[in-house]
Amino acid sequence: MRKLLFAVVSLMSAFTLGQVTPDDARKMLEEGNARYVSTNFKAKDFRQARSEQVKGQKPYAIILTCSDSRVPPELIFDEGPGQVFVIRVAGNVVDEVVLGSIEYAAEHLNAQLLLVLGHSACGAVKATVEGGEFGKNIGSLVERISPAVEKIKAKNSDKNLIIPLAIEENVEVQSAAALHNSHILEELRAEGKFKILGGIYSIETGEVQIFEPALKLETKSSSKQEHGKKEVEKKETEKKEKSHDKPKPHESKANGASANYDVNKDKKITNTVFTDGEHFCLQVSSWKNRSKAESVANKYRKLYDGVFIMPFIDAVSHKTWYRVRIGYFTTQKEAEDFAASIE
Ligand SMILES: [Zn+2]
Repeated sequence: MRKLLFAVVSLMSAFTLGQVTPDDARKMLEEGNARYVSTNFKAKDFRQARSEQVKGQKPYAIILTCSDSRVPPELIFDEGPGQVFVIRVAGNVVDEVVLGSIEYAAEHLNAQLLLVLGHSACGAVKATVEGGEFGKNIGSLVERISPAVEKIKAKNSDKNLIIPLAIEENVEVQSAAALHNSHILEELRAEGKFKILGGIYSIETGEVQIFEPALKLETKSSSKQEHGKKEVEKKETEKKEKSHDKPKPHESKANGASANYDVNKDKKITNTVFTDGEHFCLQVSSWKNRSKAESVANKYRKLYDGVFIMPFIDAVSHKTWYRVRIGYFTTQKEAEDFAASIE
């Protein structure tokens, strides 16, 4: 038994020291989390692992997560020392220091992916949503979480929805901030050698839902010129909207409160055009299960650009659903024509 255990541990070390791809790394995290959820932990020989680690470290994944004591990365992914490169900061925010650590692990330690991991009931996001007086240091954390919170607040009035949606949006914002502020990550990713993924850890179930963030360039890191262009486009869209005869489908129409998704079904086909006031996008379907939405999105990603997943909480079932959308179109007609072309 001991011999077998030794062999398994050696094999695992060889695997992590060998050629792990970004997809392998994702799979390893997902499998580790499944073991944690089922409490069927893998055998670990810490003593043997330590002698391997004297030679150096080769973590397969970088995990940026919140400092919350209920979210211990090595445990929730059932890993021992040397496997994951962990950076923890309240609200899992990205700044220069955090990004320096990420770049070090990506470039020098050959880690294959960055997982930006938020979690349910995040106190840092909650504090940002609720606002109030913050000192300089906590204030600088809040400042970095604010863009996600403001974006969600602008679209939702239901207080119960804002915090969970802001937690997900914060993962999107921080993932994009990591990528677009690092030439090293951009290059590695462009070469297919590195992936940036988002995740939400549920304190309740122990489950981590891993997803591909949109990695959209945020206004903050966009050039002024680009920002100006966006503003012009926005005004043009507004003008078009006003002059358009047809009633416009509004974001709020499918935003939970009136969506009323069938709790007994896993999937809802919509094929509807939505607008956030800036762009038009085609909602293909909605899924109860994030990974199913992900596989549908991946299918479309092979054919079209701008395929993304939008989580939302249905007000009736209080469950999170994941919309698969294709965007962005500048007019509703363009989006409708596109919908007809993929039928
Ligand atoms: Zn937190």
